Amino acid sequence: MIVAGIDAGSTTVKVTLYDGTRMESWLGLAGWNPRAEATALLGQAVANWDTDLEGLGYIIGTGYGRVNLPFVSKSMTEITCHAKGAAFLYPGVGTVIDIGGQDAKAIRVDGNGKVSDFIMNDKCAAGTGRFMQVMANALGLDVVDMAQMELLPGEEVCTINSMCTVFAESEVIGLLNQGYSRQAIMAGIYQSIASRIATMAATVCPQSAIVFTGGVSQNVWLCSALENKLNMPVIVPDRAVFAGAIGAALYAWDEVTK
Ligand code: ADP
Repeated sequence: MIVAGIDAGSTTVKVTLYDGTRMESWLGLAGWNPRAEATALLGQAVANWDTDLEGLGYIIGTGYGRVNLPFVSKSMTEITCHAKGAAFLYPGVGTVIDIGGQDAKAIRVDGNGKVSDFIMNDKCAAGTGRFMQVMANALGLDVVDMAQMELLPGEEVCTINSMCTVFAESEVIGLLNQGYSRQAIMAGIYQSIASRIATMAATVCPQSAIVFTGGVSQNVWLCSALENKLNMPVIVPDRAVFAGAIGAALYAWDEVTK
């Protein structure tokens, strides 16, 4: 039996297939038509496993766009699925911090991968992947280049005062015009996001081990800024970007084996 989890996010679509032993995940951009992109990605995934949609025993949809997926057996919240996926990727996880394209969340997880408390910011772009994209753009970079650009040890860190994405972008442009280096400004951006996320995470009393998931977890500099602010190790497991889709696939597996 093969089951699927689909995480239809604001920026990317993730699909995970699972058959009880084998697990594989695929990622695509959500684009302007996330429903079509999710359908295409699922089609590609099942073709890779030499099957088709009819060959799937159960499909769980999660994420921002889950309500718009036509073929799912059931949909579940991304909070529930991220907790389950993170507990699979890192057994013993106490807290999950997930930063995606349009939201950020901190989730307390019990020993069974179940949610015991959570907080989510999906009202404002501050501290999300979108904030990072706008800042990278103001620095003439994309998020991947920005994550790969080394911060200079001991270099001045600019302070970014504004939490609002639009005002923070103006601040970054102002700092560039004052002659500050991109690295000094980037360090300030990471500090600003880490402070905001740490304040949010504090409300769920974060427990070690803290696992960082979502696309923004791929930025090691932000990860280390977060460790400093939280004063705890922050772990980014392999496949951290797929935590939601993996959790959905595991819940789908529970459905067909219960
Ligand atoms: P969603 O689930 O909401 O679609 P994702 O978890 O896919 O969001 O995260 C998307 C965000 O991840 C993007 O907005 C971008 O800022 C960030 N991101 C993606 N890849 C990288 C990378 N290699 N380095 C740094 N940030 C990244």
